[in-house]
Amino acid sequence: MLATSRGNAKVIAGGQSLGPMLNLRLARPNILIDISGIRSLTEARQEGDAVIFGACVTHASIEDGRVPDPTGGFMRRVARGIAYRAVRNRGTIAGSVVHADPSADWLTVLTTLDAVVNIAGTEGTRSVALSDFVIMPFTVDLREGEFVTGIRVAQRAENVRFGYFKFCRKAGEFASAMAGVVADGRTARGAIGATGAKPYVIADASQFLPVTDGTLAEAAQHVRNLGIADDAAADRANGVAFARALKQVAQ
Ligand SMILES: Cc1cc2nc3c(=O)[nH]c(=O)nc-3n(C[C@H](O)[C@H](O)[C@H](O)COP(=O)(O)OP(=O)(O)OC[C@H]3O[C@@H](n4cnc5c(N)ncnc54)[C@H](O)[C@@H]3O)c2cc1C
Repeated sequence: MLATSRGNAKVIAGGQSLGPMLNLRLARPNILIDISGIRSLTEARQEGDAVIFGACVTHASIEDGRVPDPTGGFMRRVARGIAYRAVRNRGTIAGSVVHADPSADWLTVLTTLDAVVNIAGTEGTRSVALSDFVIMPFTVDLREGEFVTGIRVAQRAENVRFGYFKFCRKAGEFASAMAGVVADGRTARGAIGATGAKPYVIADASQFLPVTDGTLAEAAQHVRNLGIADDAAADRANGVAFARALKQVAQ
């Protein structure tokens, strides 16, 4: 249906972002293709050294531990902090990624985890690193007739530590600044989200290890100096969010 609709069809999963877009007439597809009933897309499976989350795995499934967590509980913690339960019951991991709202939790967290997006279409299948899949806010590398089948997250060893911090005025609201960090003692990778662009990757965050008061201050200043937000207060918030996420990897 996607392939023959000439761009007039849209996939709907949880409808938690597309619903509002339809209400506001920001999206006007002629056909909605509901994929939420495709059982295989609602499941997650271990495949080699990774977990493949089906596109329609909901935030609530991850929160409740109904699917494997390759991060030993970190993804469960993140899922618990997305919006509120009614949204989490329907909202899906791939819907979040395809919608590509810069303030979405999964966008920053899965970029931190260097996740890979699995895609299928009439031309076959392909896999793209999430950091390449997201071109800019609300724009991703999906060609006509393609849809996301799943998200691949590498299984992390027990010694790997995770950090995630976001500034929200109240629980359940989209964040105004957020950062994620994953570190194994020698290497570390971070991402800054909720900016006006796609998540900013800090590929080598190991320069801030081991975590001390000194390296936390350096990390905050480093991110602040990047000027990602082009606004002094927001740049400061990005720096503080990153330092607070980094601090968690030491705990
Ligand atoms: C009140 C409210 C508060 C929220 N707060 C937060 C928050 O704090 N943090 C946060 O991260 N999110 C938040 N969200 C968004 C929520 O997490 C959504 O679940 C998510 O953004 C979209 O997932 P979905 O399954 O509902 O996608 P849908 O709304 O069904 O689809 C979104 C877009 O993705 C496309 N799409 C969906 N699945 C696929 C697929 N498999 N292949 C190709 N295209 C696909 C659709 O065509 C559409 O363009 C909030 C939403 C609401 C309504």
